[in-house]
Amino acid sequence: MYIPTIGLEIHAELKTNTKMFCDSRNDSNETRPNVNVCHVCIGHPGTLPVINKEAIKHVLKVGVAIGGTLADKTSFDRKNYFYPDIPKGYQISQYKHPLVSGGSVNGIAITRVHLEEDTGISLHNKGNYSLLDFNRAGIPLMELVTEPVMHSAKDAVSFAQELQLLFRYLGASDANMEKGEMRIEANVSIRQNSKVKLQELGTKVEVKNLNSFRAAERAIEYEVKRQSELLENGEAVTQETRGWDDNKQATFSQRLKEESHDYRYFPEPDLPVLDISSIPAFSVEALKKEILELPSERRARYQRIGEGKSSMDPRHIEMFVSDNLFGKLFDDTINIQPLSYNLIANFISTDVAGLVSKYGENGLKNITPEGLSVIVVNYGKEDLSSRGAKDTLEDLFLNGGDASEVCKKYLQKSDSEELAKIIQEVMRENASAVNDYKKGKESALQFLVGQGMKATRGAGNPQVFMSLFLEALK
Ligand SMILES: [Zn+2]
Repeated sequence: MYIPTIGLEIHAELKTNTKMFCDSRNDSNETRPNVNVCHVCIGHPGTLPVINKEAIKHVLKVGVAIGGTLADKTSFDRKNYFYPDIPKGYQISQYKHPLVSGGSVNGIAITRVHLEEDTGISLHNKGNYSLLDFNRAGIPLMELVTEPVMHSAKDAVSFAQELQLLFRYLGASDANMEKGEMRIEANVSIRQNSKVKLQELGTKVEVKNLNSFRAAERAIEYEVKRQSELLENGEAVTQETRGWDDNKQATFSQRLKEESHDYRYFPEPDLPVLDISSIPAFSVEALKKEILELPSERRARYQRIGEGKSSMDPRHIEMFVSDNLFGKLFDDTINIQPLSYNLIANFISTDVAGLVSKYGENGLKNITPEGLSVIVVNYGKEDLSSRGAKDTLEDLFLNGGDASEVCKKYLQKSDSEELAKIIQEVMRENASAVNDYKKGKESALQFLVGQGMKATRGAGNPQVFMSLFLEALK
């Protein structure tokens, strides 16, 4: 029996106006290469870096949200290595004094959170030469490191997803993986049976370049299998860095794992030690005031709604926690109609979400909490059938307008004069069913009501139909 142990290193590009150490723009949507660059981020000799306060604040806020310890004093270090996309020949990072230590997210212990600068991008697919784009060079990059405490690919991925949500809630990072704003590295090791002490983990393999949750899950699963098979065959696992090949769905060896001393870390002489505790805006109290509800708090709030009696569907809860547009519509509507939370959740998750995937997000602004609660009230009173509610929502979504007015078009027809006409027609056309009923076949009545509903395209009220038919059949 082999037990996998997984730790994650997650990088997230921070949402700031300018880069980490200069005033070049931080714009992940810029498509022209080498537009957002200056002497500092391109590493010209004699230029000096200046710390971006906004970036520091984002990391500290993450620290408060995960319950970590904020550093009193923090400093930056040079991580020395050569690569064409780091123009200075070193990356400014934090080695000895990270901004945040400890904390946890969903029960997963965090080791540290620190700040560094992103590298440029090498474009290798241009024939027999490579091109360099330095727009990304110097963008503030937060690195969060977990303890090796996860034991399955699924657990690791759900942790990473929760973290993505947290970064978005805090406004620290958009964390879109497909845009490279969030990147995952996984340390995977295997140990034999549970008798081995926790401290004695197997040889660690680091898998880099995991650019989607799917890739992360597959790569970890692949490594667990590969390492287990090695041990099974009496071979040893090599400590190394591996990449993930999405086409082959396999990891591949990149290089033997470097140790931290390979990087010759030393304190960045061009930046002062930052005295966090002397800056009022960086105090835990001040930061807490800026943090609204966290994803875990919002989830807990939804779990408390109707607890014990008619709890919310866990799928609805996850939808509203992870999608703020739907979550906010839900919150604002239950403020008006607190008892109809399940009905509201259903309308949003099924009908409104269906309209968004059919027509795009544009019409969502036409579905207001007030409008939705008008629909919910009319549906509750059975003035609006489920068909009518759907039609009202679609009409509002596409054309906007006042919900009470739009609703009127779709209210159930209970105008008895009009219905009486329909009933006469249905009875004429279904004479045999009328005879069956008169002979005592109860189910014939249901059939006639069904025909009546069909004639009104679902807009009739079945209860009203039933009594009118009974009257007519006497
Ligand atoms: Zn710059």
